[in-house]
Amino acid sequence: MRAYLVALTALAALSTACGDAAPAARETAPPAAPSPTPSPGGRALAGKIVVIDPGHNGGNASHPEEINRQVDVITGRKACNTTGTQTDDGYQEHAFTWDVAGRLKPVLERMGAKVVLTRPDDKGVGPCVTERAAIGNEARADAVLSIHADGAVPDGHGFHVIMPGLLPGHNDDVVKPSRRLGRAVRDAYRAGTGLPYSNYRGEDGLQTRTDLGGLNLSKRPAVFIECGNMRNPGDAAKLSDPAFRRRIAASLADGIKKFLNR
Ligand code: ZN
Repeated sequence: MRAYLVALTALAALSTACGDAAPAARETAPPAAPSPTPSPGGRALAGKIVVIDPGHNGGNASHPEEINRQVDVITGRKACNTTGTQTDDGYQEHAFTWDVAGRLKPVLERMGAKVVLTRPDDKGVGPCVTERAAIGNEARADAVLSIHADGAVPDGHGFHVIMPGLLPGHNDDVVKPSRRLGRAVRDAYRAGTGLPYSNYRGEDGLQTRTDLGGLNLSKRPAVFIECGNMRNPGDAAKLSDPAFRRRIAASLADGIKKFLNR
């Protein structure tokens, strides 16, 4: 009986694939793109808004006057944006963050989330860190994830997640949820990529900072992740590998999902 039902279900699926389904049914069908690990919770992030901030931008290096403009980040004044780092082979951080963001966005969307990116492509200049934070605030994001890779000493390796420190009167409401987001992203990234915690910064893969405009100015739960050290040969080889970046995106989605579904 069970085998018969399975066969019937398969037949029904075939007929849908052949285009026999009524248009209304087709509109309510799940997206056709295959999901490597279908979520048991279905559209677990329905109604949630996630802002992904791919660090830096491809046009920054050729527009120093624009990105070096000083902006107020509450605890000081900093450059509007920076060029980011690169591997010894010349793989640029802005290209890495853009690639990971492009992989992460559809994974979150398949879970039902509305996803907003802070820049539309990898050819532009900026936006300033102040504008990046404002995009998360205006979207009323449930979670903001800023994606980076580090340019530290070659012996340094591993990843770390950066969380906002308390700035009384500015981010009182989001420090605690940002820490929860940070721990969720750290745990998922460790489990999903196998990369170790940074051996040169933070503790247990976590660091708190009050000098980053993207965090200081966020009124929504926000963290940065330094996905690895581009100046370390081992990390650089992984970050340069498209298959590994797919794992990064899946891990980040998992962390965000765990935070939003807690
Ligand atoms: Zn960066």
